[in-house]
Amino acid sequence: MSKKLFNRLALIGVGLIGSSIARAARAQGAVGSIVATARSAATRKRVAELGLADQMVESNAAAVEGADLVIVCIPVGACGAVAAEIGAHLAPGAIVSDVGSVKGAVVRDMSPHLPDTVHFVPAHPVAGTEYSGPDAGFAELFVNRWCILTPPEGTDAAAVEKLAAFWRLFGANVETMTAEHHDLVLAITSHLPHLIAYTIVHTADELQTVTRSEVLKFSAGGFRDFTRIAASDPTMWRDVFLANKDAVLEMLGRFNEDVAALTKAIRRGDGEALFEHFTRTRAIRKGIVDIGQDSPSPDFGRPHSGLAPLPKPYAAESD
Ligand code: NAP
Repeated sequence: MSKKLFNRLALIGVGLIGSSIARAARAQGAVGSIVATARSAATRKRVAELGLADQMVESNAAAVEGADLVIVCIPVGACGAVAAEIGAHLAPGAIVSDVGSVKGAVVRDMSPHLPDTVHFVPAHPVAGTEYSGPDAGFAELFVNRWCILTPPEGTDAAAVEKLAAFWRLFGANVETMTAEHHDLVLAITSHLPHLIAYTIVHTADELQTVTRSEVLKFSAGGFRDFTRIAASDPTMWRDVFLANKDAVLEMLGRFNEDVAALTKAIRRGDGEALFEHFTRTRAIRKGIVDIGQDSPSPDFGRPHSGLAPLPKPYAAESD
């Protein structure tokens, strides 16, 4: 039975996420054909070499001509300008979506440029790795991951359901919420953790008393996992923090209060407070494993150690 949901998928931006969508759409037979474009000639050339699209075009406007699904897969700060370029070229009835890690700013920036004749259904696949570019993508990236849809009020329900079905074909679980709520949730589950990772790696890098080679050598003591997250794309994450400023500042304020409380407990030698704090957080880890969002396997970065195998690449979270 054909799983084809759309005749022509237009991808604007073919990095980690765009190329994973192309691969998954092909693998699942979700679309009749794929037309793609990327900002640079180098990326367009590479996408053509990889054979990720049926047709490569040079402009965003040309990409969306005749497409019944358009997905913008670029850093969130660039979405408004792209919407302005494509607005007049969109086919009536087309679904326009994106994959940005922040939703309020994308809705604000894209909506004014989109005609009433199209259905705008913003989306965020909460799946990723620290790698970028068309070579980094893979069809299984979205398997057992969430894709959050944030349709503005009044969006056609059938269009929302059709895009949800598209994501489900890739193995994703779909949830719908407002853009504002999405940004709050992701501020604590993704944006703040990335900020902490970027900070701690920078702090270690600035140390005078511990050498850089010691930091690398003994990195399994917790630091290693931060370095993976802190290797995520700087452009993407700059845009995330600029676009989700209020929610991130709210979570950062709470985080700083908690750090202050822990600092006080350590200074006072308050072992009871530390133990109680660490016991609560351990339960959260167990909850994540229990709902299948990570593997319970011990992971000390040694694939050949005889321990349980490392989780598959799509278990690495960076979103
Ligand atoms: P990526 O691998 O770095 O690819 C980004 C793509 O956007 C490239 O095709 C790039 O073109 C293009 N691009 C960059 N700046 C642009 C601009 N100013 N105008 C037009 N095109 C531009 O990034 P990605 O990881 O796929 O991320 C894409 C989106 O997905 C972001 O909004 C991000 O928030 C979201 N997201 C990322 C993850 C993740 O873990 N990485 C997870 C979920 C959602 P060139 O190659 O030609 O420069």
